Amino acid sequence: MQETKYKRILLKLSGEALSTKDEVIDPVILGQYAAEIKKVHDLGVEVAIVIGGGNIFRGASAAKAGIDRVQGDYMGMLATVINGMAVQAALEKQGLYTRMMTALKVEAVCEPFIRRRAIRHLEKGRIVIFGAGTGNPYFTTDSTASLRAIEVEADVVLKGTRVDGVYTADPEKDPTATRFTQLSFSDAIQKGLKIMDTTAFTLCQENNLPIIVFDMNKPGNLADLVSGADVGTLIS
Ligand code: UDP
Repeated sequence: MQETKYKRILLKLSGEALSTKDEVIDPVILGQYAAEIKKVHDLGVEVAIVIGGGNIFRGASAAKAGIDRVQGDYMGMLATVINGMAVQAALEKQGLYTRMMTALKVEAVCEPFIRRRAIRHLEKGRIVIFGAGTGNPYFTTDSTASLRAIEVEADVVLKGTRVDGVYTADPEKDPTATRFTQLSFSDAIQKGLKIMDTTAFTLCQENNLPIIVFDMNKPGNLADLVSGADVGTLIS
């Protein structure tokens, strides 16, 4: 088996990445993502996943529409459980072994998050999906990704997006925007680049946990990245 650059990764996917204009959770996208994840698993990489819930529910947006913020945040956390279960089903369809662990107890379908057990699952080659965020309102799934990555001692947080890294400006709006291949945490702050929310970003910075922002929709990208190719933007 070839040596990979990263041995244990935490992959963060947004809920919105799973949706199209017709489907809240698109089965084709799910299948594509599961196939990409299988490629890195086949390389011997241990994979943990945090999935967002923004395609279903966001506490902050709901609060603007009059729903109690804390109640809405719990609803958002439960939305991540639905997405996580969808990802789990897609991974199992690829023949992979998985465990879903949640910060809020949903014991009929998921294990409660227990750090040592999560690490054991990873060591055994199971893909671990962390659902229900941090279990606390006012946090995000980006913060969950940083926190869980630190807890399970992942080598890197991989933030899968629709663009292939961090740009000088929004590449979907500004055609002159160029991609950074590498940035330091302080560079990113100085340049005012929004990579993750402040809590998530600070957690990574303080714990020397690198982040790579990359295009999850490009086939082979994830496997190339863990193998050490120049994919996306590395923040370290
Ligand atoms: N959420 C929360 N605490 C957490 C993680 C998530 O309250 O630790 C709630 C929050 O309301 C958030 C929603 O779950 O808006 C969905 O998560 P997020 O917005 O991070 O999803 P994404 O944008 O990645 O799809």
